[in-house]
Amino acid sequence: MASTVKDAILRGRKTVKTVVEGGRKKVENVVEEGLNTVETVVEAGLNTVESAVGVGRRTVETVVHQGRRTVENTLLHGRVTMRAAILHGREDIRIEQVPIPKAATGELVVRVGAALTCGTDLKVFRRGYHARMIVPPALFGHEQAGTVVEAGDGVSDFSPGDRVVALNSAPCGQCYFCLRGQENLCDDLLFNNGAYAEFIRIPERIVAKNTLIIPENVPLEHAALTEPLACAVHGLEDSCPRKGDIVAVIGGGPLGLMILHVAALAGFKTISIVKHDGQVEAARQLGATYVVQASTVRKAIRETRALTPGDRGVDVAIEAVGTPDTWQEAVELVRKGGTVNFFGGCAANTHVTLDTNRIHYSDITLRATFHHTPAICRKALALIAGGRFQAGAFITGHAHLYELNRVFEKLMNRSSEIKTAIVP
Ligand SMILES: [Zn+2]
Ligand SMILES: [Zn+2]
Repeated sequence: MASTVKDAILRGRKTVKTVVEGGRKKVENVVEEGLNTVETVVEAGLNTVESAVGVGRRTVETVVHQGRRTVENTLLHGRVTMRAAILHGREDIRIEQVPIPKAATGELVVRVGAALTCGTDLKVFRRGYHARMIVPPALFGHEQAGTVVEAGDGVSDFSPGDRVVALNSAPCGQCYFCLRGQENLCDDLLFNNGAYAEFIRIPERIVAKNTLIIPENVPLEHAALTEPLACAVHGLEDSCPRKGDIVAVIGGGPLGLMILHVAALAGFKTISIVKHDGQVEAARQLGATYVVQASTVRKAIRETRALTPGDRGVDVAIEAVGTPDTWQEAVELVRKGGTVNFFGGCAANTHVTLDTNRIHYSDITLRATFHHTPAICRKALALIAGGRFQAGAFITGHAHLYELNRVFEKLMNRSSEIKTAIVP
């Protein structure tokens, strides 16, 4: 009897175990299947959501892109020509209707927001040509900033609507000079002119190497100062002034004032040597420690030296006029061991006479600086965006493209103007 009961209990226990185990397996199977199903569903869902977002994004992008194209086409609609200044020769600029440029592969077309007059342009206006930069008849002007309206195939860094400053040149990057980091001396420096126009074509090499996005806080006409400012920064850097040095700058033209301002911002004592009354005030405003306004070269030399301890002369003299007389003056301004930078380019076939004894026995360094490099152009734009540089002080007037001849005539005769912003 007892064993029967025991057996029954044992059998019962086994049955329960089997049932429980069977049940557990079933539950486990169900859970596993369920999990698999959930995972599949979630995964499928994610895929669907991702592709929906992807498609949506693409659609939005296409719509925006198409919209932009449509707006641009509408803006340019019916227009195949634009107003542009053409230099025909000496003191002969004509505003003509010419075809609006098209962006080929790698190129940009920029709507010019502001183009600035420049001493180089004034020289070209007077002489009717520039050996390295422009041979008439040609589009004219090289300092500008504006807004991209067309980007050619293969341009990925810029798109329509971008505010850019496209520099007036770009080096090849392959010649002896480029490889030595002297890109301003590139054997194949590519120049671009045509800033005095409604639109300007930016060649592929300049797009790739020397076109910069303008920070939002910088107005276009200030950004257009990048090119001359790059020359000024380059000139000062090449002159290697040391802390505490006195830097004299000969010339109160746009570049003379710019070099002066950059030197003052860098903390050097500065002497600005100018000719005209209007330049005295500008030099003071831009940070000149002293301003020398003398009627003759001899007086300017005496007065400048008198501002240095023991009349010894300045540490660095930068010539920013571009005449043989002022080149010679610069040599007479520096102390023993001083540095002269012949920054201003003189007319072709001019020569200077130098006192060999003074240069040798006073251990004077003579050097010259031409143009700029892509790295220095970036520094210049950063300086403009930084806020300490008084960009507004360099733009003393505004004029329409049609007034360009008159503006240059005025620049030839009157000297209180620094730069005029030409708005097409
Ligand atoms: Zn210039
Ligand atoms: Zn090169």
